[in-house]
Amino acid sequence: MRITCPFCGERDRREFYYQGAAVALERPVADAGEEAWDAYVHLRDNPAGVTKDLWYHESGCSSWIVVTRNTVTHEILDCTLACDTKSEVSI
Ligand SMILES: [Zn+2]
Repeated sequence: MRITCPFCGERDRREFYYQGAAVALERPVADAGEEAWDAYVHLRDNPAGVTKDLWYHESGCSSWIVVTRNTVTHEILDCTLACDTKSEVSI
């Protein structure tokens, strides 16, 4: 997979660190219970289709990038600096 960094251009995905989905998780209240905390810490969606993921250009310019991609076709639809996206991103 090739990711286009807005600063460095197209690069191999091995130059990047995958953080996860580019959405803020809603943290449970302190006394929410074991099940809520287990879901918060361990459970993530694994959708088939278009997703937005957060990647860090670890071997490049150290930018955080929101990558929009299709998990079925592996097509990358967009790469945007995380700082240029709305507040949905949590780094
Ligand atoms: Zn870069």
